[in-house]
Amino acid sequence: MSKYFGTNGVRGKFDKVNPELALALAKAIGEYFKRGKIIVARDGRLTGETLKNAVVAGLMGVGCEVVDMGVAPSPVAEFLIKKLKADGAVIITASHNPPEYNGIKVIDGKTISVSRERGEEIEKLMGKTENASWNKVGEFCKCGDFVREYLDAVKKNVDVEKIRKRKPKLVLDCGNGTAPIIAPVLFRELGCDVILMNEEVNGRFPGRPSEPTKENIKELLKKVPEEKADMGIAWDGDCDRVVLVDEKGEFVIGDRVFALCTLLKLQEKKGDIVTTVATSRAIEDIAKKFGVKVRYTKIGAPYLSEEMAKGGAVIGGEEVGGIIIPEISLAKDGFSSIAKIVEALSEKKLSGWLKEIPSYANVKEKIPADDIGKKEIVEKMKRYAKENKLNFIGIDGVRINFDDGWIIVRASGTEDYVRIFAEAKTEEKAKELLEEYKKIILG
Ligand code: MG
Repeated sequence: MSKYFGTNGVRGKFDKVNPELALALAKAIGEYFKRGKIIVARDGRLTGETLKNAVVAGLMGVGCEVVDMGVAPSPVAEFLIKKLKADGAVIITASHNPPEYNGIKVIDGKTISVSRERGEEIEKLMGKTENASWNKVGEFCKCGDFVREYLDAVKKNVDVEKIRKRKPKLVLDCGNGTAPIIAPVLFRELGCDVILMNEEVNGRFPGRPSEPTKENIKELLKKVPEEKADMGIAWDGDCDRVVLVDEKGEFVIGDRVFALCTLLKLQEKKGDIVTTVATSRAIEDIAKKFGVKVRYTKIGAPYLSEEMAKGGAVIGGEEVGGIIIPEISLAKDGFSSIAKIVEALSEKKLSGWLKEIPSYANVKEKIPADDIGKKEIVEKMKRYAKENKLNFIGIDGVRINFDDGWIIVRASGTEDYVRIFAEAKTEEKAKELLEEYKKIILG
């Protein structure tokens, strides 16, 4: 078992994720990337600068060349890996977590973030990596104008003239994360009329908590119809996740944002869709309409990117609003994904587009269970599915598919729970499904 790495890097409060750990980890990361060229970036958290300096010291100490981006959104750092021909990147971020948290996310040269399994390999190198000799320590440079590079790449993937003609009005809730570095300039250059909220990068997150849940973006839900805007956009702290608000002030959950991006992408270019086993049936419906395949992965961004790297997919995404546009990178990107939706506003309002996405209701529950209990429940569910010849996917927990819905039972990786998630055409049916399976696994 990994000691530090979780599903997507190392994360914790400052008593655990501190400069000492950052230094030790960075030396191992440098060794893992064969003492090559590494991009370093951070979000705006108060502990970011000290952690970043420790990471830079560790990397340079073992001989890595470091390109420092300073404060930058994760997807921009990830995009730059290929541009700068870097061997990897280290991003100091705790994504959507509360301000007292921070984290160390590691991304390889193919723009795939390091999973728990690969993290274990890095951990094995900890404490065993020698510093370089005095004349071989790494070089350090500040990154050039990465904003320009990134904006140009995103603009290449959309019809800028079409957006300029329509001139949509957008309210951007930057949530005091790193979004203000890109979002205002991107959407203004695309010809949108832009209104900003929480546009100061601030590690205390005074405007709202950094996770873009419906509850946390109440102000945005009000502001969009008040301003008679076409759409509201809200990012998490490091901008790899995004949710929307339609022109009527209705919340658009990440799952539906991903489904809409998928629909728009397939209209342009056919290919596989990569998503996790926890994603809405709507994706399967859209795939059927276009005659393409859905490739499922375990839950977690690294697994999505690993599957995307195998080729053949035109889009990837997960239910919390993380969307991968492979023309930009194999990492989740909250800007390039939305640029495409902004373009689509010239044809139809956002609510009009959403009517084209099949709608499902879902219910969630968690059942307390220790490690042994978790395993037993998942195994029982798998046996049940096999014995009854049900259509199931067993790569991460057990997801059983029915004609008009599905249910997943999976062990939480970090907590003592088994999570059950059911989706059906109506909330009533989803609840029924959940109750039925609760009886089966607990009976
Ligand atoms: Mg994030």
